[in-house]
Amino acid sequence: MSDFPTQLLINGQWHDGSGAKRLAIVNPATEETFADVSSATASEIGQAVEAGQAAFESGWRDMPPGQRAELLHGLAKRIRDNVEAIAQLETRNVGKPIGDARWEVDAGAKVFEYYAGAIGHLCGQTIPVARGGFNFTLRQPMGVIAAITPWNFPFLIACWKVAPALAAGNSVVLKPASLTPLTALLLGQLAQEAGLPDGVLQVLPGAGSEAGNALATHPLVRKIGFTGSTEVGSKIMKLAADDIKRVSLELGGKSPNIVFAEADWQRAAAESPMSVFANTGQDCCARSRMFIEQPIFDDFVNQFVAATESLKVGDPTLDETQLGPMVCASQREISESFVAGAKGAGRDIRTGGDRPSERGFYLNPAVITGVETGDRAWCEEIFGPVVCLRPFTDESKMLREVNDTNYGLSGSIWSSDLSRALRVARQVESGVISINTHSSVHTEAPFGGFKRSGLGRDLGMSAMEACTEVKNIYVGE
Ligand code: NAP
Ligand code: MG
Repeated sequence: MSDFPTQLLINGQWHDGSGAKRLAIVNPATEETFADVSSATASEIGQAVEAGQAAFESGWRDMPPGQRAELLHGLAKRIRDNVEAIAQLETRNVGKPIGDARWEVDAGAKVFEYYAGAIGHLCGQTIPVARGGFNFTLRQPMGVIAAITPWNFPFLIACWKVAPALAAGNSVVLKPASLTPLTALLLGQLAQEAGLPDGVLQVLPGAGSEAGNALATHPLVRKIGFTGSTEVGSKIMKLAADDIKRVSLELGGKSPNIVFAEADWQRAAAESPMSVFANTGQDCCARSRMFIEQPIFDDFVNQFVAATESLKVGDPTLDETQLGPMVCASQREISESFVAGAKGAGRDIRTGGDRPSERGFYLNPAVITGVETGDRAWCEEIFGPVVCLRPFTDESKMLREVNDTNYGLSGSIWSSDLSRALRVARQVESGVISINTHSSVHTEAPFGGFKRSGLGRDLGMSAMEACTEVKNIYVGE
């Protein structure tokens, strides 16, 4: 028996999955299997959705808002009381540096605190309709919301999906990624301990093709909140179409990092490696296409490479580690194939792309120059520690290249000329932009993408409103 849950949480009870399939959980730093997790069948997903609907109808939907807020504050407190245990488990399962894991768990607690507070701010409107009388709107919960999450930020993204949905009065069935289900199960356990009624939050690991598919097609599921690849996001949108289920999709990215010559570019060169290599590059916001103004290009690249080479790659359980291993062997192979492709085409691999050790899915961060606009490494999401840098001379030509992608999630602009920075920020087709910093994700502000990077927004009031239906009520005179 492990000291963390490995079964399915259905209607307040822990169940061993009935299916033959199990999920073998591997520590990416050691390549050792350390847990064996139940994998939900379509029929278990069906049971959970029905229990979620019953929990919704029998109390959660109609609970006084103050009482719901208190329960969510209680869950936030339990997360805070267990930051170290959750972070240690996340590091063991994902390979992310323990310092990052602690930050993410703390951020997850803040998300629950924010939405517990937001319950009192979810407002309708009174509207002076032309024929007189009294017209107002209500924001009402939908019912059962499915949350389907990826492996790169398993705990934090689960909190992003679950907290606004519960706060708005919905029940949630959460299906975490098969590689990394452990901290989502812990969240379910903490929710039970915090006194959330049975069935309000259920957690069922399982294969996307079976459990995920069953959730996305169950007629009682009113909305699917999904974070993952654009390919699967598009599939989910199609699956949702028959029932007109609501969807919110946070998908892939290929975000730009634009550095102008007048910027404090030394600071940009020092800080930019972590804008793409944080979480070992497994970040939808990774600024993996860098546009550097020509006059500073050579000096910038030299300083960027030096800063990259000073990053501490290694054992994720150590406080000083900045880059742990990648999540699994196949993700590392994908990144390596991009580096090999660039090398084969005669591009300059300025540093990295090699394995620093035999054990663990480690990869030294790779910096590539000399790429052409049609190169795979320049166009496709790599989702690993690989970055390409290109020089530019003309602002409008550069902007056309920046927007010449199907993605549009994030991006950074470095300039000391504020009017230029704002002009460029308005023109970049991305859902979030940061100027003279790489920080662009805030609990209180909307986060999400343009184009094939997604639909709808996580975080802020937008996410909570998107977990409600608007009802208009008219009272005649
Ligand atoms: P993924 O392969 O799309 O999987 C995401 C989730 O969908 C997993 O739980 C997966 O289950 C499930 N799934 C797979 N096939 C499914 C199907 N047919 N029906 C229903 N569910 C299905 O993504 P990933 O590889 O875990 O994560 C990496 C991707 O996520 C990257 O593209 C990244 O950019 C994106 N991402 C975006 C954001 C954002 O906020 N925009 C944040 C983080 C990551 P299994 O694990 O069982 O396959
Ligand atoms: Mg995947």
